Amino acid sequence: MRNIKKIIVHCSATRKDWLDVEGAAAQLQEIRRWHVEDNGWSDIGYHAYIARNGEVLPARPLKRKGAHTKGHNADSIGVCLAGGFGSSSEDRAIDHYTPAQLAALWEFVKVTRDKFGQEITVHGHNDFANKACPGFPVSRWMASQCIQEARPKAAPRVKATQSKTVKASGVSIAASVGSAGAMLSGLDQTAQYIVLGFAGLSIVLGIYVMRERLKAWSEGWH
Ligand SMILES: [Zn+2]
Repeated sequence: MRNIKKIIVHCSATRKDWLDVEGAAAQLQEIRRWHVEDNGWSDIGYHAYIARNGEVLPARPLKRKGAHTKGHNADSIGVCLAGGFGSSSEDRAIDHYTPAQLAALWEFVKVTRDKFGQEITVHGHNDFANKACPGFPVSRWMASQCIQEARPKAAPRVKATQSKTVKASGVSIAASVGSAGAMLSGLDQTAQYIVLGFAGLSIVLGIYVMRERLKAWSEGWH
């Protein structure tokens, strides 16, 4: 067996729905065809392929040196994530890959370390070449995975805003604010009626006064 020192992560640089209907095996077969027919290699360059649903498919046998990262093939395992089209080296992993895929990659790292040694390091193709592949900084992603793994799996604390009583009082406050609002708008409407009423009354009154004055004037009152 080769002396494995690192895992190098790649991507197929395909769109998220690439050969979705055909399935993971067909996708792997297509990449193999590119590498064999187009590149003239003996086999697919990667050792494993991780499909969008998290399925991990074996590719080139592990005992054989891969063809994926110039200058680093002899002591590494090349793993390819399905997707990554249009990605850049500084994107977040979750921008381009499914949670199932990333969980599978993390499992892949653990299994590989258990088999070949805990000192195995994990890199992205972009650590060794001026390329976007696999479309995120693998070392940063690994660090965040390690932090998550180390975090004690305690029951999540319920935040004050999530408690039922706070929620209930929040609801009652909202309800009272709502009814106050309804009351205010009701008052507004009443006020409108009053204003309209007064306006109407003053017109009637004005006409009446005018009539009375006209009457008085006609009777020679002023
Ligand atoms: Zn690559």
